[in-house]
Amino acid sequence: MKTAGRILGTAFFLAGFEVQDAPRYGAERRGAPIFAYVRASKRAINERGIIRRPDLVMVADDTLVAIPGAEVLSGVTAHTVLLISSSHRPEVWQERLNFPGLVLTLPAAPEVADLLALRFIGATCAGAGARLVGVISREALAQAIRDELAPLGEAVIAKNLEMALAAHDLMADHAGCVTEAQESPADTYVKPKWIDLPFDDARTSAPAIYTPATSERMPTGLWRTMRPVIDYDRCHRCAWICSTLCPDSTISINAEGYPRIDYEHCKGCLICMTSCPHHAIRATPEHEAA
Ligand code: SF4
Ligand code: SF4
Repeated sequence: MKTAGRILGTAFFLAGFEVQDAPRYGAERRGAPIFAYVRASKRAINERGIIRRPDLVMVADDTLVAIPGAEVLSGVTAHTVLLISSSHRPEVWQERLNFPGLVLTLPAAPEVADLLALRFIGATCAGAGARLVGVISREALAQAIRDELAPLGEAVIAKNLEMALAAHDLMADHAGCVTEAQESPADTYVKPKWIDLPFDDARTSAPAIYTPATSERMPTGLWRTMRPVIDYDRCHRCAWICSTLCPDSTISINAEGYPRIDYEHCKGCLICMTSCPHHAIRATPEHEAA
């Protein structure tokens, strides 16, 4: 999705727009939700930061919709177009989400004959998005893909072009359905639900933790797509390695010196697996492990 944002941003730029594009994701982890956003305008863009009221939301993985932390629907309005890669029909999502705007879908995993093609979902989303905004030609889209993926070689570029242009064509009936929302006048501004923290006197300010240990209440294990599983027959009890390197401190050591993973909080980054010198940890797809 980071690459999708870059492709779409470059395509907008080639079409004569001012552009910002940026991804948002946490560090050192696999499997956590990420998003990327693109802001484009014919005028200079002075605003910075994430987009709070998106005109178009594209969801590459429909399982994210049910995860509150992914905030897929954050800021949507009746003006927003929602495009989901999903095997369910748009009407199903429309009803399920009670979504006020237009909902469209892209063929998802079970309908994609070659599962390897899922690697190209970013290009697919960029191609679909380019058509939905209605101001990006096939040529600009293709040039953006060539520009952004140039270091990856001709074969990768060709496959991404194929996927992006197919999605661009697939959205022909909805070309231009995404339009720029009118800016809200400043006097209608509604302050976000910030939590205001009192400002401490500079002479006394110091980290003030009023409610400690709240991270324990966050089941970050939900982020995991691959589960590290310890093979205790191979484990040499050198647990200072895996337990120390786990960035979330989710590996504890039992009385016999064996490591134990807290799956409530293991986010599946697999650093433990790659650092285990005895190859005693293997990765198992979460749905199989469950
Ligand atoms: S690093 Fe590997 S072998 Fe060592 S304790 Fe951890 S799982 Fe076992
Ligand atoms: S237990 Fe392994 S996979 Fe889980 S968070 Fe720690 S290092 Fe990452």
